[in-house]
Amino acid sequence: MSVDLLTALHQAVGPSQVLTHDDPDTDLSAWEQDWRKRAHGRALAVVRPGNTAEVAAVVRACAAAGASLVPQGGNTGLVVGSVPDDTGTQVVLSLTRMNAVRHIDPANLTFTVEAGCVLQSLQETAEKAGFLFPLSLAAEGSCTIGGNLATNAGGTQVLRYGNARELCLGLEVVTAQGAVWNGLSGLRKDNTGYDLRDLFIGSEGSLGVITAATLKLYPLPAAQLTAWAAVPTLDAAVALLGLAQQHLGAGLTGFEVMGQFALSIVDKHFPALRVPLWQDTPYCVLLENSDNESEEHARAQFERLLETAFEQGLVSDAVVAESLAQAHGLWHIRESIPLAQAEEGLNIKHDISIPVSRIPAFCAETDALLQREIPGVRLVNFGHLGDGNLHYNVQAPAGEDAKKFLNLQESRVNDLVFGAVARYDGSISAEHGVGSLKADHLPHYKDPVALGLMRSIKQALDPHNLMNPGRVLSRP
Ligand SMILES: Cc1cc2nc3c(=O)[nH]c(=O)nc-3n(C[C@H](O)[C@H](O)[C@H](O)COP(=O)(O)OP(=O)(O)OC[C@H]3O[C@@H](n4cnc5c(N)ncnc54)[C@H](O)[C@@H]3O)c2cc1C
Repeated sequence: MSVDLLTALHQAVGPSQVLTHDDPDTDLSAWEQDWRKRAHGRALAVVRPGNTAEVAAVVRACAAAGASLVPQGGNTGLVVGSVPDDTGTQVVLSLTRMNAVRHIDPANLTFTVEAGCVLQSLQETAEKAGFLFPLSLAAEGSCTIGGNLATNAGGTQVLRYGNARELCLGLEVVTAQGAVWNGLSGLRKDNTGYDLRDLFIGSEGSLGVITAATLKLYPLPAAQLTAWAAVPTLDAAVALLGLAQQHLGAGLTGFEVMGQFALSIVDKHFPALRVPLWQDTPYCVLLENSDNESEEHARAQFERLLETAFEQGLVSDAVVAESLAQAHGLWHIRESIPLAQAEEGLNIKHDISIPVSRIPAFCAETDALLQREIPGVRLVNFGHLGDGNLHYNVQAPAGEDAKKFLNLQESRVNDLVFGAVARYDGSISAEHGVGSLKADHLPHYKDPVALGLMRSIKQALDPHNLMNPGRVLSRP
């Protein structure tokens, strides 16, 4: 690293917050290795600013030295977007020290928080203040709100409350030039031109650094009930979704589908979780009913819904959680699928969306296509059916070396799955983003005019390509 850049970084954040490989006692691998262990880069330095002014000073120092920056939150992203490449020339900008809740405005139903706040701590802060912050995903114990916004994260409550984008009213951003844009508005209406907030949300650190956000809060529901149902087909699962929407209206806050193989690996690797009803059915569904009246009301609604579903042959068996602990247990099973998959071995992940109505046909066609092309391949299919979002993951045939399978088949499997997604008018990334894993695929599946506009925006906001280069948009 040039002496000038090191000096400028030391001045910006203090020497103790600039970590480099020059110090033999410092291990940078936590910042250099992605969550799925798909990539291990090498950072020029890891810099940990404590406030927005420090972030701006770091960005200016890097811009002056021509060094590129990789913003990082909890480093739980699944598309290799938050770790440096292997050139040893990139500065990792870790936001985790910026974890203050700046302001809660109960009457406006908002709170303003810094980018490094861990999602779970924000849920807890909201609850202590008597509110719900509904963003919820399995990585919530370590991912940060800055990362959630930068990837426009989804999770389990999108059906009712929307993605991270819908939960955000305003942002504070440090631009690629090191200026601070204060857009921390708590306004629900503001039609004064282009929506810059929407530009930065989902930009995966490629346009600027999110340093704070003003987020929506909701009243806490009076009761939350969870049910687990065995369904005979995916068509039945889609019909059950429609029925649940009719019966529960806005109370339906979660609707997850899980294929039998996905549940079998949870049962295999985490037997203590006691997965219900999975052995005799191709799919199970997890439903959540959030009620503003009472638990009795929620339970009565659920019972009526399930009775009708049994009568219509949409459900073959079901359990309703009797307590909050049981409900958490059922959600824990659903959230353990990615972990069980990691235990089962490396796999090819797809986070896709398809119009809900077309999901059964998509799965029938794509399951058969993959079996034809790669006999014995195992499909870990689960996801947020209510949002048309499937995690359609492909695991090596039983007994086959997972690493070898990945090396040999990844690009072919991706082509087959993404080709099917395109035929069904879907998206190759529903909620995880593009990162560097999918940046080369984007030009094949994104509308060319949209892609051209995206390149123009990148050029206008970050003309020297210093903000997370090669992520979202492949390098020119
Ligand atoms: C077990 C597990 C389950 C998951 N489940 C879901 C799920 O249900 N739904 C879902 O949407 N995602 C899910 N994810 C992935 C999800 O994208 C991340 O968990 C989360 O949103 C990223 O937050 P993070 O703080 O870890 O960001 P990081 O991983 O650190 O970064 C992600 C991207 O955002 C950029 N970034 C981070 N912070 C900032 C910032 N302050 N300003 C600008 N750019 C920034 C990074 O450069 C990178 O491109 C899951 C991940 C895991 C490991």
